[in-house]
Amino acid sequence: MPTDLADVRYQVALANRMLANEGVLDAFGHVSMRHPADPDRYLLSRSRSPGLIEASDILEFTLDSDPVEKPSVRLYAERVIHGCIYQARPDVTAVCHHHAPAVMPFCIAGVPIVPVFHLGAAGGETLPFWNQRDEFGDTNLLVVKPEEGRSLARALGPHAAVLMNHHGATVVGGDLRELVSRAIFMCQNAEYQLRAQPLGKVPTLTPGETRLAGTINAMPNVTDRTWEYWTLRLDKAGGLPPRPSRPRAASVKAATSRKTPSRGQKKERGRTR
Ligand code: MN
Repeated sequence: MPTDLADVRYQVALANRMLANEGVLDAFGHVSMRHPADPDRYLLSRSRSPGLIEASDILEFTLDSDPVEKPSVRLYAERVIHGCIYQARPDVTAVCHHHAPAVMPFCIAGVPIVPVFHLGAAGGETLPFWNQRDEFGDTNLLVVKPEEGRSLARALGPHAAVLMNHHGATVVGGDLRELVSRAIFMCQNAEYQLRAQPLGKVPTLTPGETRLAGTINAMPNVTDRTWEYWTLRLDKAGGLPPRPSRPRAASVKAATSRKTPSRGQKKERGRTR
């Protein structure tokens, strides 16, 4: 395997652990990345809690969510979420599916999450809902069939995320760092929206403010800074993925380097709002 793909797998493991450390992921949920050299494949962990994922857990899948190599390990049941979104959205290079406590009240009540502070604009002006029941009746609510994944991707449309009734959310990004930043700030926005409600009517950002703030939130200098900050917090918690070939003293620096810019990082930036 080329060294750069090894590093990409490390970065995917790191993103999973970072989002677990920030309370977006728990025992469940997952982060994937489109393969940097082959847009018809994506990288996703074997079935494992995100906070434990290592680079060696990251496997390759086709966009039909079939593993490229016959697996000897268990796979995530909901991986069609990733494959179907990569098929539907050429501009997307990273996907996170989660059940974060911050968004669940909105997913249960069916109340929209709207941008209420500048960093919350990372989610865009509106986030659509997808209710699995509408098309598929009674299910166990897991998104496991290709037709369920395609339905979810249709509901996502051109948006930054889709809220899944009684289940959770799926967030997309133009690169891994934008995705992580968006997923975390979307949860913070949901928390602030809920906490502001007892104080009275909650005014939202205007569409213009959302567009302007959302654009600046996705700039590399912003997402590099947030990536370094959340990496430092993960390191302090003792949670960095093992990187046997490099000394631990250089771990934060290595984890935050931009050695392998993802596909479409410059060209497609900002198109996922
Ligand atoms: Mn799920």
